[in-house]
Amino acid sequence: MTESQKPYFDVIVVGAGNAALCAALAAREQGASVVVLEKAPPSEQGGNCPFTGGGFRFVHQGIDDLRSLLPDLTYDEAGRIEMAPYTADDFRSHLTTVTHGDTRADLMDTLIAQSRPTIDWMTAQGVRWDIYSRISAVAGAPSVIPNAVGLTAWESGPGLIEMLTTACRRVGVTVLYETEMVTLTQGVSGSVTGVVAKDKSETYEIGSKGVILACGGFEANAEMRGEHIGPGWELAKVRGSRHNTGDGHRAAMTIGAQPIGQWDGCHGTPIDVDAPATGDVQVTDQMPRRSYTLGIMVNLNGQRFVDEGEGFAEQTFVSMGQAILTQEKGVAIQIFDSRAIPHLEGRYGGSQKVEADSIGQLAERLGVDSATLEATVNAFNEQAHDGEYRPRELDGRSTTDLEPPKSNWAIRLDKPPFVAFTVTGGITYTYGGLKIDTNSRVLDNDDKPIGGLYAAGEIVGGIFYHNSLRAAGLMHGSVFGKIAGEQAAGI
Ligand SMILES: Cc1cc2nc3c(=O)[nH]c(=O)nc-3n(C[C@H](O)[C@H](O)[C@H](O)COP(=O)(O)OP(=O)(O)OC[C@H]3O[C@@H](n4cnc5c(N)ncnc54)[C@H](O)[C@@H]3O)c2cc1C
Repeated sequence: MTESQKPYFDVIVVGAGNAALCAALAAREQGASVVVLEKAPPSEQGGNCPFTGGGFRFVHQGIDDLRSLLPDLTYDEAGRIEMAPYTADDFRSHLTTVTHGDTRADLMDTLIAQSRPTIDWMTAQGVRWDIYSRISAVAGAPSVIPNAVGLTAWESGPGLIEMLTTACRRVGVTVLYETEMVTLTQGVSGSVTGVVAKDKSETYEIGSKGVILACGGFEANAEMRGEHIGPGWELAKVRGSRHNTGDGHRAAMTIGAQPIGQWDGCHGTPIDVDAPATGDVQVTDQMPRRSYTLGIMVNLNGQRFVDEGEGFAEQTFVSMGQAILTQEKGVAIQIFDSRAIPHLEGRYGGSQKVEADSIGQLAERLGVDSATLEATVNAFNEQAHDGEYRPRELDGRSTTDLEPPKSNWAIRLDKPPFVAFTVTGGITYTYGGLKIDTNSRVLDNDDKPIGGLYAAGEIVGGIFYHNSLRAAGLMHGSVFGKIAGEQAAGI
């Protein structure tokens, strides 16, 4: 193909998830011709977005303020909703707390300041919002709706992708499915001039003024997980899209983009060992196994390896997933007795369980050395307490001199029947990514923008550290996606 035959669009957007489609719409709104490259077939479009509940965290002044986003909300329904304002200070405090203050201040300021304007803009693009499903069906009964995640996209993550894709088609954005970005092309100045793309039949170049990388994290790339997050993570099950393999990270870093953020961190969780290797929208939500606080976890040698009661599962499930993956074969066995069984999360009902009337019998059925497992349980029981579980409070009932300790809910495991569930670690998404400025421009190792290159969404580093904040992932993808589109179109 000669230079003159090469396809050309003003803006190339890599990926077709939330961040990407917001970028495409914003660029098109500025008059740019836009192509979206989606590695997946239409049935798997949108990476991790379809796996979410579609919640958005943004600044608002309470239910009266949200009425303009909810045209079907009647006065009667609005009058029954109690929802406090969610202020910029609330947003800042929540994000700072979960990320231990490590979120980059400039990105945080932009995210918070642009959150509500971006929601308004998405609404104008054709995104509909849902609050209706959270209003009490009982006539006259008040509905207290938490203010932090005021609205969700209509029909959650899948609905969001469908609405944004429809909006893109309406304004003339070209979407190429099963077409992946392989590398970035550069001119003599080092600026990005397009991409090398690959579809089912050929590999070819597409030229552009601007390329926006919105192709997700590297959670579905076993090699990158092992290299960056740490040993064991190559074995993790992927809870979301199989297509997010860090292609954008590698392509950008090959031409000098600066990595930033917590590359050894990710969102993960203990998960059923029989979960699919990569996400399946129908079952992903049923796979986490987070009731380990109410029993013990052992490895295939029948030995405990972690403090199961360090804190509430909401605070510890990421590190538990990691701890499990470092054990032999990356698996562990959660063991409970009849005192704990009534308190297990409902989703355990879908697991293969092994049941027995004694620990020795349980070990035999699990294929674990029974003498070792009995010794483990006996050592635990010697230091554990009698009584019932109080799962909703940090009960302080701990072991006294056991390695590893169990710091809360150390209740004896001695009331048969005993049940066991085999679990492994699942990864949701990664935190490490590319350094951008508040105009979504990708920066090089000297903090200088790489001409023609932008990024938005999960590929951006410096936002989440240690933990993520619910519904802030979609919000930052939309905020920086919109900015990237406007900037790329305006070159
Ligand atoms: C189970 C689960 C639950 C979650 N729950 C929430 C939640 O409640 N709230 C929240 O805010 N976040 C949640 N997240 C995270 C959320 O999904 C991400 O923050 C969000 O989807 C990231 O959006 P994105 O547009 O950056 O990437 P994605 O939505 O993942 O999109 C990436 C796109 O890039 C494409 N792609 C990848 N490589 C290439 C390539 N080489 N060429 C072309 N295309 C490519 C992919 O196919 C995909 O379309 C959850 C994630 C999972 C897995």
